[in-house]
This record gives sequence, C-alpha cells and structure tokens, in this order.
Amino acid sequence: MGKKYIGVDIGGTNLKAGLVDEDGALLATAKTPVHWVGAEEFVKTLAILSKEAAEKAGVTWADICAVGMGVPGGVDTKAGKVLYTCNIPLSGLPVAELFRRELDVPVYLENDANCAALGEYCAGAGKGCESLIVITLGTGIGGGVILNGKVLHGVNGAAGEVGHMVIEPEGEACPCGRRGCWEQYSSATALARLTREAMAEHPESALWAQCGGVLEKIGGRSAFEAARGGDAAAQAVCDKYLSYLGQGIVNLINIFQPEMLCIGGGVSNESDAALLYPLRAIVERERFGQYCPVKTRIVKAQLGNDAGIIGAALLGAVNS
Ligand SMILES: [Zn+2]
Repeated sequence: MGKKYIGVDIGGTNLKAGLVDEDGALLATAKTPVHWVGAEEFVKTLAILSKEAAEKAGVTWADICAVGMGVPGGVDTKAGKVLYTCNIPLSGLPVAELFRRELDVPVYLENDANCAALGEYCAGAGKGCESLIVITLGTGIGGGVILNGKVLHGVNGAAGEVGHMVIEPEGEACPCGRRGCWEQYSSATALARLTREAMAEHPESALWAQCGGVLEKIGGRSAFEAARGGDAAAQAVCDKYLSYLGQGIVNLINIFQPEMLCIGGGVSNESDAALLYPLRAIVERERFGQYCPVKTRIVKAQLGNDAGIIGAALLGAVNS
C-alpha cells in the first residue's frame, strides 16, 4: 500500500478534508460548514473531519503519514502557527500543536493559494517542472510561486499575492487598501464588472438579451459567450480583459521566468482559442528578452477546485 496523506482546506464558509495518495489522487472527502465557537473546538472539528475522510476511503488512522492544511492567510510553516487570517480568527494560533493533541501525526501548514500551486506542481499541470507560477482567477486572483521545487514563502508566509500588484494607478479601489490592483481588472469578478460597464455604453449589445435585462445575471462567462455569438461590444470587453490579464502575466514572467505559468479558476474553462492563444500572443509580444529561445509555457490548471486540498495533503510528502 502506498503512502496516504490528509489535506485540509480551511475556507471562509466550509472546512474540507481529503484523503490523498502519494500520487496526488484524491480518494475521499469530508466537509462541514464553519461554525466558530472557539479555537479548540475549531481544531477538534478539523480532526474529526480528517478521521472521517480517512474512514470513507477505508484507511485506518495509523496509516496516515501526515496532515497538511491550507490556511487563508499567512503562516509560520516552521512553527506550524497561523500568523494572520482575515475571515476566521485564527491569528496567532498554534494549529499544528493543537491538532496533534487530538491526533498524533505530523502536521504542516501552508497558505491556501500556495497549496493550490503545490497541488498543480506535484500532481497536475506542473508535474516535472522545476519552477511554476499558478494563478487562480476567481473572486480575486490567488497566486503561488514555486521556484527550484520549493514554495516561495516570504517573511510572512504569504508570498505570491500576485493579485495585488498595481496595473492601473489611481484605478479601482481594492480591499487591500491600494488602487488599481490586478485582481480588480483580471479576476472573474472584475470581468463581470467590465462587462456591465460596457453594457451601459452599448444598449445594442446582445449581452442585454443574454441576461434578460437582469444585470445581476452577468458573470465572468457572459462576455466570452456573447463574443462567440459575434457581439462586438462583448468582444471588446474580452480584448480589454485579456490585455489586463496579459499585462500581469508578462510582469510575472519577466520577474520569475518560470518554466510554466498555470491558469486556474472559473475563467480558465474558456476555450484555448478565446483565452490561451490571445494571452500567449500578448506575452510573446511584450515579454522581456523576446529573442530568448526558451519560452514560459502558459497552460490551464488541471486539478480544478481540488488543487488546494491535494497540495495541502502533499505538504506531508514534500516536507518529509
Ligand atoms: Zn489589492
């Protein structure tokens, strides 16, 4: 029997645990909503979920090599301690130590976006790469950087916050306190906003019929859908969006020169013709050292929403 690991995803609304084998296959999961009543109860819940995931896969707890956790914030990976989180009050909590009081097993913590990057690196699109950047285009933009086979942590354990590089000075306000952050222009949320803005200027656009006149129905896919149908205003939105997205990607490639840049999140479900080909063209045109022979490969993520939990689980494999 190969080695088995538990990955835990600490989300703002749900807690999820998954049993993962040494090849990165997710074999069983257990999930529960977050009910915050205190730190100890919280960690107990994580332990119960972890056992449940193991049981579902028919694996006894004694056969679990390690538990890894993806935390939405900064972590001290060496001390197994959360440094800060925004949505759940875990700041300062020695989660690894508390968890080990419940279940005796090695415990590793990592920032959740970094876990997603590690998942793709170990078991997804980035298999075999030495250096990889994963960006996830969702409500915001998550990011993780892996260099020479190691997650880039930074002094606060949350390096790779690529969504908060400014690409439009004096632009849209961002919850981080700055203006014009990349995620305000290139997340799925931002794409929906750009689409609604274009609709206000283009009453003739097919986007109006597509959403039945209900602006709330406009999402990150609307513009791509209407553009496929030949709508000029929607195509202009897609072009603008891809230009913003491309700018950020070129910035990252210029700084890190990774072997691969991997795009995940809802937007990455668009066809290669609509998303990857135009992005590759922008990067090819704008990257520093256009004449360097080796190009960063720009590809789609492969693990979808499971990337985080798989990466968290494999923390046990990469750290042992
Ligand atoms: Zn920001």
